[in-house]
Amino acid sequence: METEIYLDNAATTRCDEEILTAMHRVLTEDYGNPSSMHRKGYEAEQLLKKAGEDVAAALSVRPQEICFTSCGTEGDNLALFGAARANARKGKHIVISAIEHAAVAEAARALAEEGFEISTIPVNEYGIVDPEEAAALVRPDTVLVSVMTVNNEIGTAEDLPAIARAVKEKAPGVLVHTDAVQAFGKMPLFPARDGIDLLAVSGHKLHAPKGTGFLYVRKGVKLTPILYGGGQQDGLRPGTDNVPGAVAVSLAAVKSVRDLAERSGRMAAMRDGFVRKLYETLPEIRVNGPAGAAVMPEGTERDRLLAAAAPHIVSLSVPGVRAEVLLHALEDKGIYVSAGSACSSHAAKKQPGTATLRAIGLPAGCLASTVRFSFSGETTREELDKTVQALAELVPTLRRFS
Ligand code: PLP
Repeated sequence: METEIYLDNAATTRCDEEILTAMHRVLTEDYGNPSSMHRKGYEAEQLLKKAGEDVAAALSVRPQEICFTSCGTEGDNLALFGAARANARKGKHIVISAIEHAAVAEAARALAEEGFEISTIPVNEYGIVDPEEAAALVRPDTVLVSVMTVNNEIGTAEDLPAIARAVKEKAPGVLVHTDAVQAFGKMPLFPARDGIDLLAVSGHKLHAPKGTGFLYVRKGVKLTPILYGGGQQDGLRPGTDNVPGAVAVSLAAVKSVRDLAERSGRMAAMRDGFVRKLYETLPEIRVNGPAGAAVMPEGTERDRLLAAAAPHIVSLSVPGVRAEVLLHALEDKGIYVSAGSACSSHAAKKQPGTATLRAIGLPAGCLASTVRFSFSGETTREELDKTVQALAELVPTLRRFS
């Protein structure tokens, strides 16, 4: 096997050594339970407090507004179920975008079974939500609007400040939630400034271990918990506090925000170079989402679209080659990518493509022929050049045999 090129960082990332060391120390030395009354408990409580302060600083919010969770899915579920149930007396209507991750879409579907009505905001061909269309769906009985900050499959970065503004101008009491799992550490996020009430993040996308995450809950927002127990985290998320996980995800948050502009600028430049080389090298391909604008002539339309592209995700359709076939052929060359999105692979079995690819109106011939490349701060230009080279070798042969 040749050297490994890991381009599936939107699925998960390699754990950072410094984070692992910090976590190891908590697990083996500072392993007390923050609820214990002795010194070891107190020390653990202090670590948890510091972790909350660090995460809050990374989002420019208050430490009391951070709730540690076990993953992005839990944060999204706590936001949706929590807000819907706590506000059910005000109304039973929820608005979500057409391209939400299953952590939001499936939670909404489950809420529909509890009697909530769900409206879906359409997206344009690039996956962009029009803030006015979001606001237009808000009714007197709407309690929550949920739009992801960055789509995990095609990398569209939504204009959350404009969406929150439009929604709240129409109905100030409506809560705005965003799934920021693919956005945190890739772009600056200021939920308090931007009118966002709930924001979910996952640690394992940020080089922290799986089983970590946090939810920002704006002060004053009432959520009904999903779990009941010992009252930890102000009763919002009871269960013995995962101090090593909190320390890990807080360090990941600090490291993600440090050098953010430099890192995401470098990744965006690599993304644009990668997209250009894909179009130069491979006939009849299509890069989905706003990142494809890298090959447009210079001008305001290109700038507008690239501003709506996350720096780390490139979705490529290769008509005539099935995504799984391409994925495994790349794997044989030591290159790891996703077919559509790793997280939706169960749902995708029922219909070709994914809900996101269908929502952007991808032609039928592309739906089952779409792979995702996703970078981390560790990804290099050389790795991307080798990937284009590998595709150039593989695609003509695979097209012939597909
Ligand atoms: N939301 C988005 C946009 C994601 O990409 C993912 C994971 O891929 C999740 C939520 C779920 O996060 P987790 O795996 O931490 O539950």
